Amino acid sequence: MIQTEDMEFAPRVITPSETAEDGDIELSLRPQTLNEYIGQDKVKENLAVYIEAARRRSEPLDHVLLYGPPGLGKTTLSSIIAHELGVNLRVTTGPAIEKPGDLVSLLTSLSDNDVLFIDEIHRLSRAVEEILYPALEDRVIDIIIGKGPSARSIRMDLKPFTLIGATTRAGQLSAPLRDRFGVIQRLELYTKDQLTDIVRRSAMILGIPCTTDGAAEVAGRARGTPRIANRLLKRVRDFADVMGNGQITKEIASIALSRLEIDSLGLDSLDRRVLEMIIRGYGGGPVGLETLAAAIGEESVTLEDICEPFLMQLGFLGRTPKGRVATRLAYEHLGLKAPDAPPSDDGQLSF
Ligand code: ADP
Repeated sequence: MIQTEDMEFAPRVITPSETAEDGDIELSLRPQTLNEYIGQDKVKENLAVYIEAARRRSEPLDHVLLYGPPGLGKTTLSSIIAHELGVNLRVTTGPAIEKPGDLVSLLTSLSDNDVLFIDEIHRLSRAVEEILYPALEDRVIDIIIGKGPSARSIRMDLKPFTLIGATTRAGQLSAPLRDRFGVIQRLELYTKDQLTDIVRRSAMILGIPCTTDGAAEVAGRARGTPRIANRLLKRVRDFADVMGNGQITKEIASIALSRLEIDSLGLDSLDRRVLEMIIRGYGGGPVGLETLAAAIGEESVTLEDICEPFLMQLGFLGRTPKGRVATRLAYEHLGLKAPDAPPSDDGQLSF
């Protein structure tokens, strides 16, 4: 997969997007079958039925849209789908398909029933998207030959194929594109138990001795995201090698994660800055996303895609029509005294 962030500084340990250091290890840890894929039970159950039906009819699977925060297993799931269907997988991203011609050559190079995976599909250009509509609906593409008044359009048939689109922001997809997906599935943040299983599985594959408590400690601080869990596992292993006998125990994991400035719930310094700014800078909120992002010097997309889903899952942050608000739990976690009356939020948020 292609790294998607332009990062001036070293990435945060808990950046859920793929970073350069993830490359090799992600490949070795990527589950190959639906059975190996931990969690996301509803999505798995549905996909298993659709895959079986497509296989029995020797037809391509309906086009699939997967959405949810980065690092939750969208790319993994698409490679599992191709594997289970016994077809090839082509992987690309929205920004990599610059011109309509790029998409045309991708689509015409597919074999029968192949899977084309487009990550960050919300970033496709308008011109490219328009090629995609007839391709998805009628398996044809219209190619314009020549220029000006003598230009003519030629229609070309495509082989049957499945498009799997992945996006962190389903809301940014245009309605005509969204409507062309027969299967739309949302991936959820993982529970601590599921992440513990993922850490134990990864530790086994990498040959890292790890107690169940140790795995749970890593899992509990991985903000619901398998990619972060695997990355933390790797970092904690270094501490276990240097400070202990190489085994990851609860104690070693806890020391290592604190050194990495990840607190007991998995918040890092950026999460804390967000909450502290809302509380100290804006009296607990509501404060608009753009204002908040400018105040702490971060991109608003980083806050929206990465910090907010997790802070909301913890119940630390609320979204109201007037902006973001910190909840009583957030005050308590930061050791601050919550105001007696909750911040004004039009009654949208209960403490
Ligand atoms: P996304 O495409 O959503 O950003 P990926 O599919 O690249 O996420 O997943 C990141 C890493 O997390 C994978 O390399 C894989 O090792 C791990 N992973 C993701 N989902 C699961 C899962 N359900 N079970 C086990 N490991 C997973």
